[in-house]
Amino acid sequence: MLLKNPFAMEGRWFKGNLHTHTTNSDGAWSPDKVANEYRSNGYDFLFITDHWKVTDISGLSQDGFLVLNGAELNIGPSELGYHYHIVALNLKENIPSNSVSNAQELINLIKSKGAFALVAHPYWSGLTVNDIQNLNGHIGIEIFNSTCFFSIAKGHSVIHWDDLLCKGKLTWGFAVDDTHQHYNDHRPIDACNAWIMAKMPELTEDSVMNAISSGYFYSSNGPVIHDISIQDNIISVTTSDVKIINFIANAHNGESFTAMDGKPINSARYKIRGGEKYIRVECFDENGKTAWSNPLLVNF
Ligand SMILES: [Zn+2]
Ligand SMILES: [Zn+2]
Repeated sequence: MLLKNPFAMEGRWFKGNLHTHTTNSDGAWSPDKVANEYRSNGYDFLFITDHWKVTDISGLSQDGFLVLNGAELNIGPSELGYHYHIVALNLKENIPSNSVSNAQELINLIKSKGAFALVAHPYWSGLTVNDIQNLNGHIGIEIFNSTCFFSIAKGHSVIHWDDLLCKGKLTWGFAVDDTHQHYNDHRPIDACNAWIMAKMPELTEDSVMNAISSGYFYSSNGPVIHDISIQDNIISVTTSDVKIINFIANAHNGESFTAMDGKPINSARYKIRGGEKYIRVECFDENGKTAWSNPLLVNF
C-alpha cells in the first residue's frame, strides 16, 4: 500500500523543531531568546517542551512564526530499568508526575488532553525495540536528537525505527534538537541543528498537528529532499548534492547509491522488487549530515 506522499501534496514546506527546553526546566535560554533564535534561523514553528512544565508561550508567536505548547514527561521502568521520555506535543496544561504508573498510561493521558505523544531519543534512553513495539497511540519516535548526539553520541535511533517497521508498526521518524543550549569546547551547541520539513496548506496549529500525526514531513540535519515520486513501481528521488542515497527496507531488501569519482549525486531511482515490507529514503552529504523520509509504502 502506497502511503500518502507529502511531496505530491499541495501546500509548502514549513520548518520546525518539536523538542525544546528553556530556563523553565534545564535549558540555558529564556523562552523569549529560544523563540528569537529559532525564528532568526529560518524556522517556521517551534514546540517548547520543558520537563514536566507547560511553559507560557503567550507573546512568542509572530507573523510567520508559530510557537506551540508542549512538555516532556518521563516514566519507568523500561525493559532495562531506565525511563521512557515522552514529548507531549500541544499539551496545554500541566500533568502531575504521579498521575500514571507506566508509559502506556502516560501516552493515553497525553492523548486524552488533546495532545500527541512522541517517544523521545530511544537510543539515549536505553530503550529496546521491545519497549516501543508494545506502545500504542503515539505518533512516532525521535530518529535523530541533536543534544543526545553531541553529548554522548547517542543521537541516532534509526535501527529502533527499522525494527518497528519490520515488525509491522507504522511509525513516523522525527529529527529534533531537544535543545538545552548546552555546549563546551568539544561539543557544539544543540540549537537550530536538526528539524522536520512539514508539508502544509498554511501555518496553523491544526495544520502542524495534522502534518506531524499523518507523516506529511521529512526530517533533516542538513540535506534537502527536493522530490520523491513513485510511478510504475519506480521510486525517483531528487536531493541537494549528497554522497549517498539509500532506499532502506526490511532485512536484506533495499539499495544504496554512493557517489563515485568524487562528484556528488543528487538523484537516484529504485525499482520496487516486491519483497519490501516498507521502503524509506535517506541521504547523507559529505559531512555526514542526513535527511530521512518517512516510509513511502508499507506491505505489512
Ligand atoms: Zn529527554
Ligand atoms: Zn528533552
